[in-house]
Amino acid sequence: MIIAVDGPSGSGKSSTARGVATRLGLRYLDTGATYRAVTWSAVDRGLDLDDTAAVAQRARELELEVSTDPGHQFVIADGTDVTAAIREPRISAVVSKIATNLDVRKELIRRQREIIDDAQNSPQSGGGIVVEGRDIATVVATDAELKVHLTADQDARMSRRGAELESGSVTAEQLRDQIVRRDADDATVSQFLVASDGAVTVDSTHLSLEEVIDVISRLAKETVPQGRER
Ligand code: C5P
Repeated sequence: MIIAVDGPSGSGKSSTARGVATRLGLRYLDTGATYRAVTWSAVDRGLDLDDTAAVAQRARELELEVSTDPGHQFVIADGTDVTAAIREPRISAVVSKIATNLDVRKELIRRQREIIDDAQNSPQSGGGIVVEGRDIATVVATDAELKVHLTADQDARMSRRGAELESGSVTAEQLRDQIVRRDADDATVSQFLVASDGAVTVDSTHLSLEEVIDVISRLAKETVPQGRER
């Protein structure tokens, strides 16, 4: 079974998807981490991020390992543990540039499908995986048995990220840029601002994390896994 969770930044996708996977004993894939890892690598190598061919080449060459264990997330890029580095504001500020490169998307979607297949076939999969991103229901796994469009109003999304990033590592301006400008840029290549066909909308504005996990876990239990040919 594949559970797709798509939505804008700050809607609580990561915590929710990880929580559902933990609750139901499933694997978990954060597809945003793959875009962040390519961004980290391109920045690390000093590539011109506007050089779409060079960045796409980097995406194809990068050795990438992304954990699908919801209880132990890590990302290894060319042998370097970049789990923390890919979350730095300098990466968030430019990741959309990499994610709107269509050749990068082609390569990462291919890899994401491979990770999903491997995870589903692994003995720890519990028979399924929760996949979180922007284009999971519409592109990466159109055959997902459950498609969730997770939303929250802009104020709630801003204040959640504000709490997350309260350490002082980002300014209010950077925070706004990370939510509003990033979503606008990302929306040029993925359709996540409205629910796709067949998706259930869950508005998390007035719900706690536990309540959102409850709602999605209940929907998952009501969903009968289909036989799939992938
Ligand atoms: O979810 P997260 O904020 O970590 O995603 C980082 C970036 O990766 C997004 O801003 C977007 O540019 C890109 N992304 C994407 N498609 C996905 C997941 C993430 O384009 N499925």
